[in-house]
Amino acid sequence: MILGAHCPLSGGFSGALRQAQDLGCGAMQVFPCRRHAEPSAEELSDFRRARESGSVRRLLAHSRFAPCLGSSDEGMRGRSIELLDRELRLAAALGAEAFVLHAGAYSEGSSREEGLERAAAAVREALDRSGAGLTVLFENVPGGGRRLGSALEDLGRILEPLRRAGRPCGVCVDTAHAWAAGFDLSCAEGMLRFLSRLHRVVGADSVGAFHLNDTRALLGSQRESHAEWGGGFLGAEGLRALLSRPEYADRPGIVELPLRSDREAFRNSLAYLRRLGA
Ligand SMILES: [Zn+2]
Ligand SMILES: [Zn+2]
Repeated sequence: MILGAHCPLSGGFSGALRQAQDLGCGAMQVFPCRRHAEPSAEELSDFRRARESGSVRRLLAHSRFAPCLGSSDEGMRGRSIELLDRELRLAAALGAEAFVLHAGAYSEGSSREEGLERAAAAVREALDRSGAGLTVLFENVPGGGRRLGSALEDLGRILEPLRRAGRPCGVCVDTAHAWAAGFDLSCAEGMLRFLSRLHRVVGADSVGAFHLNDTRALLGSQRESHAEWGGGFLGAEGLRALLSRPEYADRPGIVELPLRSDREAFRNSLAYLRRLGA
């Protein structure tokens, strides 16, 4: 796997890139949008130029606004499509190869089926509006309530219409979220069972990236709680089984630590992964 980190934008896009390079990463993930100011054309081109000569070969953008793409409320859904369009344009301008997003939730009184259809159609619309030729990767989530994408079948169903329409798409697997959704990835057997089910439902080729996160949430708790590697419940055994799979050798594997984690925390987690053969 090509290891990377989700880098904060406090020092701008170039600061995020320097952090990834300083950590020895071959991949990185950023939010394409900051809360306020839109990046200038100059900042975007500086970033692209700086990346060409550095170690970071793979760039993922992660949706920041978690839009209501599966909502039955047309106003909210329309607003989400606009935000996603803007994020996709920025991601493309940064030179990202793929865009990671969560499918959101379906509305009260609606159904999972309908929510998945709406989310797929919304993503297609945003992709077409933006003209961005990015691969869209749907991330599995911890689940709970009406949230879409904790069951692998949800991901399979959301990809179907996009594939039929010829839009590049796939999934991004977050290990902490899969654990929270009830998949025991802490042992080799559990990890291999999860991966074979994933391949059956979405296809091995559609697994575009990993979020390599440990967690302090309980198995099946549907809780979001990322932790440094070695400090959570996932540990080494299942992870080693994942990292040794040859079909993922060229996939980015991104470490996402809780907000305000320092560089040392990233360094420790990346060292843990490297010791296991990543
Ligand atoms: Zn995510
Ligand atoms: Zn994630």
